[in-house]
Amino acid sequence: MRKKIVAGNWKMNKNFSDGLTLASEVVNIVNDELNDDVIVIMCSPFIHLAQVAKNAQESDKVFVGAQNMSEHTAGAYTGDISAEMIKSVGAEYVILGHSERREYHNETNDQLAKRVDLALEMGLTPIFCCGESLEIRESGKEVSYVCNQLTESLFHLTEDEIQKVVIAYEPIWAIGTGKTASSQQAQDMHKSMRDFLAGQFGQEVADEVSILYGGSAKPDNAKELFAQPDVDGGLIGGASLKARDFVEIAKSF
Ligand code: 13P
Repeated sequence: MRKKIVAGNWKMNKNFSDGLTLASEVVNIVNDELNDDVIVIMCSPFIHLAQVAKNAQESDKVFVGAQNMSEHTAGAYTGDISAEMIKSVGAEYVILGHSERREYHNETNDQLAKRVDLALEMGLTPIFCCGESLEIRESGKEVSYVCNQLTESLFHLTEDEIQKVVIAYEPIWAIGTGKTASSQQAQDMHKSMRDFLAGQFGQEVADEVSILYGGSAKPDNAKELFAQPDVDGGLIGGASLKARDFVEIAKSF
C-alpha cells in the first residue's frame, strides 16, 4: 500500500525563530489530531533543518526534508549542500526539481537524474517534482511533457529504487496562483503518470509509488483532490506556512 503524504514546502519563508515556532505547532497539532495512516513532511530552508528535524522526533508521523540538493558529493561547490549533510541532521526527504529551481536555476532533467541517484544512495527519499507550464497545457501536450520529465530523470532506476521515490505533480500554472487544478485534471494526469510508470516498471511497482499533487492546495479543496484514486497526497506551498491550515489539509483524506 502506497503512503498517504502531505508535505509542506516552506520555500524561502520564515526566519529561524518563526520557522521553529511553525514546526513545533505542526508537531503538536499532528500528535493530537492526525490519523496514523498519513505522514506529514516539513521541507524547511536549510537554515532550519537540523532544529526542525529535532522537533520532528517528537512525533512518529512528522518527517523533515530539504528543498534542494547538490549533484556532487562534496568539495569546492560554494553555497551548495550535499546529500550527506542533509542526512546528517536527521532529514529523510529532499525535494528535487521544483519548477522554481528549474526556472530560476536552470536545473535540467539530466542533472536531476544524478541528484535522484545520490539521494537514494544516501538513504534520502527524493520528492521528485514535475509539471507543465500554462503554454504547454494549452497546447494539449501536458502528458507527454510530464512523461518526458519522468523518463529523463527516473527511468534509469531499478524497480526497487523507483518505489523509494515520491513524485509530485505540480502544474506551474497552479503554483501560488490560487488557481488549483480541478480534481479531475489532477486525477487524469496522475493516472497517466501511473500508467506510464507501469509501462516501464510494471503495474505492481507503479501502484507502490506515491504521487502527490501541488499547486494552490488548501484546506477547502484538499478533500476533493485527495478523494481521487491516484492522488496520494499533496505538496503544499503557501498553506504550509500556517500550522492549522497545513494540518487541516493532512486531515483531508
Ligand atoms: P502553493 O501551494 O503556494 O501553490 O505552492 C505549491 C508548491 O509549489 C509546492 O511545492
